[in-house]
Amino acid sequence: GDLLKRRKIAVLGARSVGKSSLVLQYIENHFVEGYYPTIEATFSKSIKYRGIEYDCDIIDTAGQDEYSILNAKHAIGIHGFVLVYSVTSRNSFNMIQTVYDKIINFCGLSSIPCVIVGAKTDLQNRQVQPDEGENLAKENHAAWVETSAKTNQNVGKVFELCLQEIEKRTPANQAE
Ligand code: GDP
Repeated sequence: GDLLKRRKIAVLGARSVGKSSLVLQYIENHFVEGYYPTIEATFSKSIKYRGIEYDCDIIDTAGQDEYSILNAKHAIGIHGFVLVYSVTSRNSFNMIQTVYDKIINFCGLSSIPCVIVGAKTDLQNRQVQPDEGENLAKENHAAWVETSAKTNQNVGKVFELCLQEIEKRTPANQAE
């Protein structure tokens, strides 16, 4: 219809960075310590952005490493990407560029609608500083935000930014 627009968002990142917790907090408004699903799941949610309701499918992916993280179904028909690292894991941060490059190569594009997310800000053992995340995002023309699924910090912001990135690249004649 005219008012209901469908958008598919894939959430990708290294194992245990907090992807499922982020999605669960966003969809169900709670945090479960030690929540550890390893299977992929898709959640539907209506998200209002700039007065328009978007009917969103959020795909919580279950890739474990940079080899298994991206398969064709996470690149075909996806409108926006949420790439998650943990601010407590340098390795998970280093993986973001690899995953980003895989996606753009697969899609044959020079950039994609993308939000880079530094998760678990409530923890004390930080290994990645905010300016590192911000710079990585700038280099890749992506949005960036730090979150905590535990304290519900900036969780809604992730998906709002993702829609923003999608919509600014969607020509008006492709808006449906
Ligand atoms: P995934 O494998 O990327 O989906 O990661 P999970 O969402 O399963 O989270 C992995 C572990 O990190 C679990 O024990 C979560 O409870 C924990 N976790 C996830 N997000 C946060 C957070 O924002 N703060 C804290 N303190 N722990 C988190």
